[in-house]
Amino acid sequence: MLAPESAGGLALDLAGAAEILRAAGEHVAPEPLLAVAGLAALLLTRLDSAPAAALLEELVAGRSLPALAWQESAGDLSDVPLDCGCEPGPAGAMLLQGEKLMVLPGRAASGWLVSARGDDDTVLLWVPRGTEGVTETLVPLVDGEQAATLRFDRVALPASAVLAQGPSARHALRHALSAGQILQAAELLGTGQAMLQQTLAYLRTRTQFGQPIGSFQALQHRAVDMFIHLEIARATLDEVLALASDRAGLTIERLEAEASRVNARCTAAALQASRSAVQLHGAIGYTQECDLSLFYKRTLRLSAWLGNVTAHQRRHAALAEGTARGNETVAWPGEFPRTADWREMPESEFRRMVRAFLQQRYPDHLRYLSHRARWSEMRDWYLTLSAQGWIAPAWPQAHGGMGLPADKMIAWIEELEQYGVARAPDQGIVMIGPLLIQHGTPEQQQRFLPRILAGDHVWCQGYSEPNAGSDLAGLRTEALQARDAEGDHFVVNGKKIWTTLAQDANHIFMLVRTDKEAKKQEGISFLLCDLRTPAITIRPIHTLAGEPEFCEVFFEKVRVPAENLVGRLHGGWTIAKALLGFERIFLGSPKQRSTRWASWSGWRGRGGCSRTRCSCSAIRPSGSTSPTCRPPTRASPTL
Ligand SMILES: Cc1cc2nc3c(=O)[nH]c(=O)nc-3n(C[C@H](O)[C@H](O)[C@H](O)COP(=O)(O)OP(=O)(O)OC[C@H]3O[C@@H](n4cnc5c(N)ncnc54)[C@H](O)[C@@H]3O)c2cc1C
Repeated sequence: MLAPESAGGLALDLAGAAEILRAAGEHVAPEPLLAVAGLAALLLTRLDSAPAAALLEELVAGRSLPALAWQESAGDLSDVPLDCGCEPGPAGAMLLQGEKLMVLPGRAASGWLVSARGDDDTVLLWVPRGTEGVTETLVPLVDGEQAATLRFDRVALPASAVLAQGPSARHALRHALSAGQILQAAELLGTGQAMLQQTLAYLRTRTQFGQPIGSFQALQHRAVDMFIHLEIARATLDEVLALASDRAGLTIERLEAEASRVNARCTAAALQASRSAVQLHGAIGYTQECDLSLFYKRTLRLSAWLGNVTAHQRRHAALAEGTARGNETVAWPGEFPRTADWREMPESEFRRMVRAFLQQRYPDHLRYLSHRARWSEMRDWYLTLSAQGWIAPAWPQAHGGMGLPADKMIAWIEELEQYGVARAPDQGIVMIGPLLIQHGTPEQQQRFLPRILAGDHVWCQGYSEPNAGSDLAGLRTEALQARDAEGDHFVVNGKKIWTTLAQDANHIFMLVRTDKEAKKQEGISFLLCDLRTPAITIRPIHTLAGEPEFCEVFFEKVRVPAENLVGRLHGGWTIAKALLGFERIFLGSPKQRSTRWASWSGWRGRGGCSRTRCSCSAIRPSGSTSPTCRPPTRASPTL
């Protein structure tokens, strides 16, 4: 697209190429267009040397896929190589030493265009695949792509490997990177626009409450928000492309600033669109069964490559870096108090105590997890808090909680979040526990609350059904009253869906229909059920991150003792709403501002919390690291 006609290319200007990249984004095209036909071609067309021209011809002919290897440290937008250097070697050869990150395409590249530190300025080198001394480590990316981390260990290169050096090399590299960032913005705009279209189609077809959900104003507003962000991004792109086409008038510094402006704008708009799209699709949007997941992952990958929003905003606005906080060691003399008059304790002392406790007791490998933690991972930490008497910070002390007042509760949440403490399966602590304290019988409180505190009972929430999501009152799982020699009980038949971590739980609280004749809301009851009861089947569902975070739960004539009814028979709707109150307070808490998925069941019902914010653009498979994404919460807990 960008190569001159003399090299067999189309000689498109940046605006033409941007339109192709936008279309590629709209279709999540798998080809390494941006990496090769964008970045590598942009660089080679600007180099005035025979080896560069030859390589460009190979690229245009499709015989070579050169990959640009420029970045040396995560989040760094600088084109100046610090680590990678080359020096004269024996017999006129050059010796290359150093490391490069996030090189795309990974495995497919036929060689690398490497920027290195020469004697007194940047040198651009061509290193064909297979050259001795090059080690390639492939890093799987969230969209199925691979990036390479390259290690050059005294790699001997002939003089012909030098494509350019000095100011012209540096200038070409800066130009290629900026133009590449503009093209990337176009691709992100394409993914964002595609997600908006898919979402609009879904809003017109999915029915709840007997009508298409798109007829509700709240959803229309969110769709309009998506549209507005994308339109602003499109307008910015048009403006920057017009500026960039005026080659003579634009300095490289201005091009870099404009590239950062449009990149930050389009990335933010695409991320906003992707989060809204997932939310407006409800739970299905969160799964990999929905096509949206492909667009979402591509958006995440693009948003974290060639600099993320923050890096570009910083470069554009030339802001100073924020100061990191939270990693200094905090001293706490003596034992940590199990209980105290927390109201009287100064907040600074309370925070110091919590921070010191976390530093001493919270396992390092569980900080800033990139996935929803499982019970097997968090059990020990849960028991540590339980032994300390701190597992239920919001419960009254009379029921075994800490009884924190509101200000200390916020401090508690912020400290845990700042330290990167993962969320343990806690539906016992934040949902059913508080509910039983308010609505349970004394017997139910005695039976269940201590077991929640001790970690013996792990709970999950059985509300949603395939056709009863937002329209929860439409649920059909049925519980019939019965009596036998062992006493009064219910017989439950039906299916629940999207049940978070049901496979880790041993109890479920659920809504069931106990009167089919009554008005929808008046025929529902609230039951507690031991998941180890026979005839219950749990089938995990994989989220778009590929993790079995939620499940389907099937009930076939399952026996639930009558004493497990909470509230009055057919009075479950009141209880359900009370529980959603706890859930919404939890979802609206400051902790969720920097949690990847604040979405979790807060989508339910009119007026439910609709906030989803993601502080990290690079979702990655468990255990892997994304070089361009640092845990933002270390520097700023509420990014
Ligand atoms: C990660 C995750 C974990 C979950 N865990 C659980 C769990 O443990 N237990 C459980 O029972 N359920 C769980 N859910 C399910 C959740 O409660 C439902 O997703 C939710 O009730 C929405 O239902 P739905 O997915 O069918 O979306 P739909 O009802 O199809 O709604 C689609 C979108 O439209 C919006 N919407 C619909 N109607 C309206 C309206 N009238 N006004 C405004 N907005 C509206 C919704 O908010 C949503 O954004 C989970 C969901 C997710 C994503």
